[in-house]
Amino acid sequence: MNDPAPAFSSLPELTTDDYMVSALALNGQVRAIACRTTHLCQEAQDIHQMSPTAAVALGRLMTGTLLLAELSLKNETDSITTIVRGNGPLQGMTVVGTGHQTVRGYCNQPVVETLHKRPGKLDIGQAVGEGTLTVIKDLGLREPYMGKVELVSGEIAEDITYYLAASEQTPSAVGLGVLVDANGISHAGGFMVQMLPDASEETIQYLETRLSEFPEVTYWMQEGFNPDQILDLLFGDPQIRYLSHKPLAYACTCSRERMERNLIALGARELAELAQDPEGINLECHFCSKNYPFSQQQLQDLLTAIIKPRTAEAD
Ligand SMILES: [Zn+2]
Repeated sequence: MNDPAPAFSSLPELTTDDYMVSALALNGQVRAIACRTTHLCQEAQDIHQMSPTAAVALGRLMTGTLLLAELSLKNETDSITTIVRGNGPLQGMTVVGTGHQTVRGYCNQPVVETLHKRPGKLDIGQAVGEGTLTVIKDLGLREPYMGKVELVSGEIAEDITYYLAASEQTPSAVGLGVLVDANGISHAGGFMVQMLPDASEETIQYLETRLSEFPEVTYWMQEGFNPDQILDLLFGDPQIRYLSHKPLAYACTCSRERMERNLIALGARELAELAQDPEGINLECHFCSKNYPFSQQQLQDLLTAIIKPRTAEAD
């Protein structure tokens, strides 16, 4: 009997955690990543209380941003920000992915009317509208990298695919899916496939055919397949090489110190105006909805702190 060990993924099938898998397929000619993001999309939904259309749109952008982060961030301190600006009812979205596999994001208008493309299929493109996708990568260099493209459809996966082709000259295929039901997010995930420079014409043809016939990622998830198995199904390649598995999570980096810095950044005049209010102010984090109250006294102290050095200089 030959070696019975399966070349396909050996990840336990029972885990339902969010994670990212990275792989090389088709003789190392194709790079592939896939992820499950169901729990982190649900966490965003719990924080922002979005209508189904907003939850799906933001879920797709968060999933796509995590795929971009896996592709392009090297260090844990690196980050990637994706900003969708559109003239549709969602009024745009902002997502930040990090080099340690966390993501956070928000929709400018979390509650919008539910529109369907066809029964069971939400019309995300219409909710996003026409506009742009901006990608900012902070790789710890002096200047962050920035790329910006027009939205193709507002359906997010197509827009990210176009961004990768137009702005990074990397032909890719991107699939993103988020399903909502009465209980919230039932399934969310995505994949991204990139030809490496030495990919043969034959490999490109083979993959294009498979991609064109490949069902949506949420179809496979509903059938119980995990991200590894989805890549197995996409490539049909028993020699696929899994490089890494990483857990994913929704996480915010806000803090009181960061909020103080934001207040100081407003400048003395605006801060002085805020410090007039005996009630103080309450700052809320866009990403996690955490509240940071500042009393009038605390605002005055911040104001003193920024005015003092100038007075000292004048002496
Ligand atoms: Zn926060």
